[in-house]
Amino acid sequence: MKRISILGSTGSIGKQTLDVVRRNKDKFEVVAISANSSVDLLLEQIKEFKPKYVAVYNEESAIKLKKMIPTDINVEVLSGMSGLKEISSLPEIDVLLTAIVGMIGLVPTLEAIKSGKDIALANKETLVCAGDLVMSEARKHNVSILPVDSEHSAIFQCLNGEKNKEIEKIILTASGGPFRGKSKSDLENVTKSQALKHPNWSMGRKISIDSSTLMNKGLEVIEAKWLFGVEQNQIDVVVHPQSIIHSMVQFIDSSVMAQLGCPDMRLPIQYALSYPNRIVNDFERLDLAKIATLTFEQPDLETFPCLKLAYDSLKMGGTYSAVLNSANEVLVNEFLNDKIGFYDIPYYIEKTMDAHTSIDKPTLEQILDIDRWAREYVASAIR
Ligand code: NAD
Ligand code: MG
Repeated sequence: MKRISILGSTGSIGKQTLDVVRRNKDKFEVVAISANSSVDLLLEQIKEFKPKYVAVYNEESAIKLKKMIPTDINVEVLSGMSGLKEISSLPEIDVLLTAIVGMIGLVPTLEAIKSGKDIALANKETLVCAGDLVMSEARKHNVSILPVDSEHSAIFQCLNGEKNKEIEKIILTASGGPFRGKSKSDLENVTKSQALKHPNWSMGRKISIDSSTLMNKGLEVIEAKWLFGVEQNQIDVVVHPQSIIHSMVQFIDSSVMAQLGCPDMRLPIQYALSYPNRIVNDFERLDLAKIATLTFEQPDLETFPCLKLAYDSLKMGGTYSAVLNSANEVLVNEFLNDKIGFYDIPYYIEKTMDAHTSIDKPTLEQILDIDRWAREYVASAIR
């Protein structure tokens, strides 16, 4: 029995994680769930999964949830960052699944690592803003970081049994998002509802916007660097609109391994939870003859400058990736609030990176300071 705590149980990944648990009640037990403020859904999840703890980040929502819980249900309601930290480091859990959105997941993730919990990581922003720190803490405390992101799960599966040093290249596949094939002038005035329509995946709002700008792939390049210990020039991106090949590894002898499957996030979630074993399921099987054609093309860095900015942040090193990420979080939010245009996102990210003085090997406090600085810088630059 694996005992799980979930950061962000009400989101796209969180709900799919609970579905994996629902199908495998003999293998997984949910000890704690959490969300920002979605109390109605949390209550449903409490009734179905009977966790011992629930953490609600928003204090008022936590009070509201407490009043909603029937008296015959025994669950401890926690709140704020202290609540998220507590459910990440409970003695009763084996693994923390991080399905929260944004770098707010960093502190609870580090808390879990320090308590010796394995991490099933969907929350890529955590590795983007603090990859060096997170991976070195994981080594120190001998915990595994198991990727949930489909591309990284694919690479992880391709590498099973292989030594890291035999990797020549990682080839990340990208669907291209809703605006594949468009030019810059086509996209100047796109709206959020156009950007939110992903062709292959149904996901949370932030990652959907990131997919439309290709920042999602940029964040994944950075995530891959830290997860697999490769340099940025060993990570290629290829656009593959069918999303059937989830990513590939090219080895030093020119051999390439790929992992394929129907686009369904429950598979990488399940694998991160069941690793090193596999679990039988009834998910859709791949029918290659029906799919018939798999195509590949170069990413268009002119139309999608966010991907280039992510590579630049890695080349410049230090805390540039953290700044890229924090600025992007603010800007995506502003775009979702109809406050800025599509190309304001890369414009202000670049401006913020230009204004930043980088630090090598930053501490947690320094990363949190840089995050505050970047958010304020972007906010005032927009004004
Ligand atoms: P989502 O917006 O659907 O869900 C986010 C979850 O985080 C919700 O449960 C929300 O309540 C919670 N949350 C947000 N702020 C919080 C806070 N301050 N305190 C506590 N909880 C908070 O997002 P998603 O699409 O599920 O994505 C989650 C993470 O997984 C992101 O980092 C994303 O990049 C990554 N990811 C998602 C997918 C996908 O298919 N959705 C695929 C790969 C990686
Ligand atoms: Mg992905």
